[in-house]
Amino acid sequence: MARLNLIGNSLSALLQITIQKPFYSTLFITKRCNSRCVFCNASDNKLRDPSLDEIKRIIDECRDFGICAMTITGGEPMLRPDIFEILKYIESKGIVYSMVTNGTLWDEDKINEIRKRKIYTLSFSLDTLDSRKYRRIRGIDGLPLLKRNLELAAEKNMRHGFVSTLTTVNELNINEVFDIVEFDRRNKFRFTCAPVSHGQNFRFRANSGAHSLNSRSAGNVSGLFNKLAEQCKRDKTIIGPSVYYRNISRFFEGNYSVPCDAGKYYISIGTDAGVSACQDFPEFGNVLKDGLKKALGNRTQEQRINACAKNNPCFYGCTTFFSMLLRQPLLEKFASIAEESWKGLLL
Ligand code: SF4
Ligand code: SF4
Repeated sequence: MARLNLIGNSLSALLQITIQKPFYSTLFITKRCNSRCVFCNASDNKLRDPSLDEIKRIIDECRDFGICAMTITGGEPMLRPDIFEILKYIESKGIVYSMVTNGTLWDEDKINEIRKRKIYTLSFSLDTLDSRKYRRIRGIDGLPLLKRNLELAAEKNMRHGFVSTLTTVNELNINEVFDIVEFDRRNKFRFTCAPVSHGQNFRFRANSGAHSLNSRSAGNVSGLFNKLAEQCKRDKTIIGPSVYYRNISRFFEGNYSVPCDAGKYYISIGTDAGVSACQDFPEFGNVLKDGLKKALGNRTQEQRINACAKNNPCFYGCTTFFSMLLRQPLLEKFASIAEESWKGLLL
């Protein structure tokens, strides 16, 4: 049943792409967070959480518009006591969804509860296996809790790909990436990573520049992502396809040229139901006040998005990944999809 749903939603996504309508949305259900990550502004804000009713109306609106895939994120989604009701509601609408969590607020009951959900991937942020580095990157002493919760998840023996980890690669953990891949392999999780990105005037990305990958480390970063691009072709643990890592490698060599389709094929919906091209960009409408169709009619910012993709791309998997995949020649596109399919994730 879950596979049929995935196939059905993939076809819906293709239709949306063909008629140039967004098929995917990131949905922020809170901006509160118990972490203080150096690369993120989420915990600095005073935004109120949307009510459960408002979230349900946003989801209804998205489904009616043709959004068939979503990532639930925050802030930390597990701060919401009604989190599982939200997930159940998304499921009831037949939307394929994932969720990103910092992993510190779980316990056995919650792991048991998430096991019952038809979630595509539950993604835990895991930047390091070293507590001291974790505190420097994430601003709290959270690694013992995160590790305990990952162990609880591993004990439940969930399907391959149910749990994944996401590493934000920075100057503190760049040499630890393959240790984290091995950690994931031992626990039957999947792995992916993206380079840390900072910048001025973004809504979500911090501008501190702390632990950034600067020009001194550029050669190492490029080499690391090239290695991931090669290894992910034959390694079930590393989420592919290889074109994603290869393009990141090219960026650090100064050769990156993939446009970004934020606002065109995907959108971001904030806690106030505001719609933006991506989480880092200003809102151009509001789902609850205007409806999604009208909100998207006000979309501008194309030049700014192009400049961002050229000079300071985020490499958020949800946005840049699809833009890369879409721009591959047809044969390579199928090869990329096949590369992931054989690992048992898609079929
Ligand atoms: S990156 Fe995630 S965990 Fe860290 S402060 Fe931002 S929302 Fe919280
Ligand atoms: S690269 Fe695209 S998705 Fe990423 S921050 Fe820039 S405009 Fe947003």
